[in-house]
Amino acid sequence: MKCYDCPRGCGVDRDDGETGYCGGGRFARIAKIINDFDYEEPCLGRVTALFFGGCSLGCSYCQNKKISRACVGDEYDERALAQAFDGAAHPLDLVTPSHFLTAIEKSVALCRTRPSVIYNTSGYEMPDAVMRASAFTDVFLTDFKYADASIADRFSHASDYPKIAVAALVKMREAVVDEWQTVDGKKLLKRGLIVRHLVLPDNVKNSLAVLDTVASAVGTDVVLSLMSQFTPNGDGTPDRKLEKIEYKIVAEHALKLGFKNGYFQRFSSARSEYTPDF
Ligand code: SF4
Repeated sequence: MKCYDCPRGCGVDRDDGETGYCGGGRFARIAKIINDFDYEEPCLGRVTALFFGGCSLGCSYCQNKKISRACVGDEYDERALAQAFDGAAHPLDLVTPSHFLTAIEKSVALCRTRPSVIYNTSGYEMPDAVMRASAFTDVFLTDFKYADASIADRFSHASDYPKIAVAALVKMREAVVDEWQTVDGKKLLKRGLIVRHLVLPDNVKNSLAVLDTVASAVGTDVVLSLMSQFTPNGDGTPDRKLEKIEYKIVAEHALKLGFKNGYFQRFSSARSEYTPDF
């Protein structure tokens, strides 16, 4: 069957050995599984993180470039993927899952028990893909990277990102209502939506516009995670670290708009050891 699972719309026949922009073939590839992973957002608690190889967006500054540039990792057919899901010690954190949506849907259906799922996406999603993912997703953890088409084009060759990501975000908000629970004294998000934004060096204006866009699309009650941990990946752009003043301007804008749920990140997080080792 030809693949139109993401906005790249390659139309390649992955069942027949063809690969598209994301590099994904018929079966999912997992580059790494971390069974006990601590998230940047404490409300997610401990998770079992599955890092898929390949990516349908492909940003120049990708912090996981070792596994995203090529579709690396072990191949899992649907049954093997279901076994990996069943064997998880914690809620599943599916990292960059979008290009394996079809395989994931089939695998979830084969699981012994319905897994608890965090769908950790770049935000570059077709509305239909969001609806399909919402059938098995508890928490959408989505990036919102760009509000400026020219910046989306420069860093991700995706000038349609702002338009696509807004529509996807609205669909995610419609699909899941936030539901909180307290476990061992910690407030955890059982179901819901978290919007992440990584502030990029030299691109404060884009970040301010992202916050305006998110506020207008889904309101300021949404859980917002404003990240400062940008680390130059050695061969892409931007090629310098974020400055404190850049992050401060964006954080102050978030507060001014009225975002009150979520996280600001400690500036010391901008170190290479905060990106997973693959
Ligand atoms: S999921 Fe991959 S093959 Fe399918 S349309 Fe997107 S980039 Fe192309």
